[in-house]
Amino acid sequence: MIDDSDRAHLRRCIELARMALDTGDKPFGSVLASADGEVLFEDHNHESTGDRTQHPEFAIARWAAANLTPGQRAAATVYTSGEHCPMCAAAHAWVGLGRIVYASSSAQLSDWLQAMDVPPSPVKSMPITEVAPDVAVEGPVEDLADEVHALHRRYHQR
Ligand SMILES: [Zn+2]
Repeated sequence: MIDDSDRAHLRRCIELARMALDTGDKPFGSVLASADGEVLFEDHNHESTGDRTQHPEFAIARWAAANLTPGQRAAATVYTSGEHCPMCAAAHAWVGLGRIVYASSSAQLSDWLQAMDVPPSPVKSMPITEVAPDVAVEGPVEDLADEVHALHRRYHQR
């Protein structure tokens, strides 16, 4: 169930995705929130550095491993503008983070990119639960997914 607090965190993810777009990065943003909803860490995509592993969800997993106890990680929620890729889903599960809430799904992103004739990614698109079956996952949220779609159109059609 996605409540108002979840939506507020997802809105922040979209804001971060917009910031990424403004700095020439792909529009992805993510937030790590504690069990009581406090924002612990946030980041956006940094692939314009030339390192295509610079995804915000991967940065969150690394930050959580360095700064949180296993109990805090399990109780935390990761919010993200776009569903984790397989690399980030694996990192999330390896460090024992909790629930994931995403605005738009990987399946939606694949459809959007295909419709814009973007060359296929070198990594297969799949749901988080294919990679990390024990992680609780919620999404997409359709009205927010529409906003994410608009950001991807801006990125690829400029
Ligand atoms: Zn990723």
